[in-house]
Amino acid sequence: MASPTSAPLHTQHLVPAPASTKIRLALLATALCDALGAPAEFKPRFSFPFISLMKPNGNFSLGAGVWTDDTSMMLALARSLATYNASGGFDEADQLEAYLRWYQDGVLSAIGRCFDIGSTIRRALKIYKDALKASGALSPAETRRALARIARDLLGDGFGGNGSLMRVLPVGLAYSRDPAGAAAYARRSSATTHPNAVCAAACAAWTECIARLVRGADAREEQISKLDVLHPFAAYPWPADADALRVALAADVPLPAGVVDPAAIEAHYTAHHPLMRLRAAAHTEALAATPSAGDAEALAARTRALLPSAAALPSSGYVVHTLAAVLYAFLATRTFEAGALLAANMGDDADTVAAVYGGLAGVWYVAQEEEGADGEEGLFWSPRVRAWRNALVRRDLIEEVAGELVEFVERHAASSLSIIRARKSQFILQLNLLSASSTRGGLSISVHLYTTYCKNKRVW
Ligand SMILES: [Mg+2]
Repeated sequence: MASPTSAPLHTQHLVPAPASTKIRLALLATALCDALGAPAEFKPRFSFPFISLMKPNGNFSLGAGVWTDDTSMMLALARSLATYNASGGFDEADQLEAYLRWYQDGVLSAIGRCFDIGSTIRRALKIYKDALKASGALSPAETRRALARIARDLLGDGFGGNGSLMRVLPVGLAYSRDPAGAAAYARRSSATTHPNAVCAAACAAWTECIARLVRGADAREEQISKLDVLHPFAAYPWPADADALRVALAADVPLPAGVVDPAAIEAHYTAHHPLMRLRAAAHTEALAATPSAGDAEALAARTRALLPSAAALPSSGYVVHTLAAVLYAFLATRTFEAGALLAANMGDDADTVAAVYGGLAGVWYVAQEEEGADGEEGLFWSPRVRAWRNALVRRDLIEEVAGELVEFVERHAASSLSIIRARKSQFILQLNLLSASSTRGGLSISVHLYTTYCKNKRVW
């Protein structure tokens, strides 16, 4: 197999697979990476033994393979989208109630109780719970008031944590056919606990990326490369109130107009994008450090050589740091395993960086749902990843929620299709009526309409 690290971004392509496969494995990959990185949470980079397998989580006195709040909240959001009001859909109150069930009763937790929660999320849930206490069930107007209170109290710069980014994956998975709509939902999803503008913009951009990849993989658009993942972040129209994201993720020098050759675009970003400069330096170092990496020690050395210092690439709970660290882990490696090792060994907010990476990397690398189906050393499955999977606790819960989300997506697609078919029948009926009453003028209108229909058929 080729090196798991260096290769030009424009030569690494999205692995095609049906949306249902991508959804199932993206949820699993999130939990795998969350559990892998959890023991390194709160620890400074390079201050802990190298992580390459599931280890006990000493931060909370938990066994190996236990996933944390990141996965629980992601599952809660996925279940809400899949089951709201019986047929599924987006509803802020339903999402907040799902988060509360996890926080208070341990629903969708790995060990039957919530053992960690971010301070901003705790405050948002308290506001919502207080509103619930006052009136039992909230009317739409009361829900709006509770959300307005959350927006007012948790808007400041001190509330720019990664708590909404870490759970937003299901929005992009569920609404992949409509990236712009998915981005709007992502902003609203963030606002339930993280109304801060930077958090909302990060969730929107991330969701657009996930939705586009799921849609592209499902349609077997094999030409989407990792450069096509980097470019939208580098050139994103970051709003003025989320300028920190522009500073971290935009190129110092915008891509000149007219540059279309992928190798030339990549060369530009390698010179002018902060993450790409780090990547180039780290690849040179990794190559020099371990020319013939093979055993566990060499794996640790190679992974560490790929890791910039925490000063150059922080992995803190600040949403900007998290997003940049995740993109780096994805762009600096070329297998699911190599990126997961990189993210987990960053330390600090390692579980969240790894969990967010897992969602993207699951969508990118998974070819087949069945483990091992893409070979002993595939881009997603490897002996080490299978060992992580075997050590993961409550895999059944993750698979159950993933199944619900897949069902929602398929139901949604089927109902969209029936609307399209109904519109098509109505249109053809109109054509027939026109033709039936046709004089020469009517016929020419029919021909015009039919031609328009044929032109638009792909969209329909
Ligand atoms: Mg966590």
